[in-house]
Amino acid sequence: MLDVVIVGSGPIGLFAGFYAGMRKLNGCIIESLPYVGGQLTTLYKDKEIFDIPTQTSIKAKDVVNQVYMQYKQFINEIPLYLNNELYSIKKIEKGYEILTSKQKIECKTILFATGNGNFTPRKLTIEGNDAENILYKIDSIEIFKNKKVVVLGGGDSALDWGVMLLENRIDTTIIHRRNEFRAHEKTIEKFKNKKGIIKTPYEVIKLILKNNLVQEIIIKNKETEKEETITADYILVNYGFLPSKNKFNEININVEQGSFIVNSDMSTSCDGIYACGNAVTYKGKLKTIAVGFGEAATAITAINHYIFPNKNISNIYSSSAIKKED
Ligand SMILES: Cc1cc2nc3c(=O)[nH]c(=O)nc-3n(C[C@H](O)[C@H](O)[C@H](O)COP(=O)(O)OP(=O)(O)OC[C@H]3O[C@@H](n4cnc5c(N)ncnc54)[C@H](O)[C@@H]3O)c2cc1C
Repeated sequence: MLDVVIVGSGPIGLFAGFYAGMRKLNGCIIESLPYVGGQLTTLYKDKEIFDIPTQTSIKAKDVVNQVYMQYKQFINEIPLYLNNELYSIKKIEKGYEILTSKQKIECKTILFATGNGNFTPRKLTIEGNDAENILYKIDSIEIFKNKKVVVLGGGDSALDWGVMLLENRIDTTIIHRRNEFRAHEKTIEKFKNKKGIIKTPYEVIKLILKNNLVQEIIIKNKETEKEETITADYILVNYGFLPSKNKFNEININVEQGSFIVNSDMSTSCDGIYACGNAVTYKGKLKTIAVGFGEAATAITAINHYIFPNKNISNIYSSSAIKKED
């Protein structure tokens, strides 16, 4: 039976994994996505962050790389299982039995680092939206080689994709319903300099399909109402993500608007279940990475006390706990 199962491999889940390893607990991290980093990887990997302690500024993806490297020191003690969504939790005699999309695990404690929940892409809501060449993420740039790609959206990820496609010499058009973009000014400039085509303020009003593949897109200028038909081999939709809130009703845990209500040691209303990071709420809670890191350390320390009530855990400093070999 594992000491702890950490649910979620956002920055806070990864740091909790590191801390659990450092505190000599055994366990695992389960993550529903095929990658680590949570919101930082999914929503804003190229954005600069300015409020990570000791960093004047650091890109989101570099925060993820750093905290992943830190965690990786303990990957044998706390392995990471990607594409593993937590489905259900059952109370058993000495802890919990959890069922994920891939396995059954027994553990003494659970630490939720589930952030705002899973992310599902906001869909294109128009007839024909299930066509095979409508995509919501880029798995491999190779499939777009020598193809014509239309990107829908005006945020950072849409423009980042646009620039990446142009850098791979792929014919790219961005369609956005407003003249103003939410994306970073520099990325928009980059896209324009690389001769990307921008069509604003346009909305997609019809898809023309053949054999379940979009062949043509009919778009309408929102100011002039003029319609235009453009061709595309692929449509990449980037209308953002919808968080699906945490829902673990089966264990009857206290939540407020989808966030776990926690005590000062990060324990929830269920014995042996803890939570940290964006997944929690309490008076004065700040949903930032720096605060979440602290909560992860607090939660793992409390879990250690919970499992080993008689163990002396007075040595709280990593400078004493970790011995580096020269
Ligand atoms: C655009 C933007 C800019 C931001 N800028 C800053 C900033 O400058 N500074 C700052 O401090 N914060 C910033 N934040 C907030 C910051 O991203 C969050 O505080 C941080 O991501 C919280 O980390 P987390 O690990 O708690 O949750 P998340 O990053 O949300 O990660 C949670 C992980 O849990 C996984 N998960 C959820 N449910 C399950 C399940 N049932 N089974 C398995 N896995 C599951 C998810 O897939 C996800 O990977 C920003 C957020 C956004 C959107």
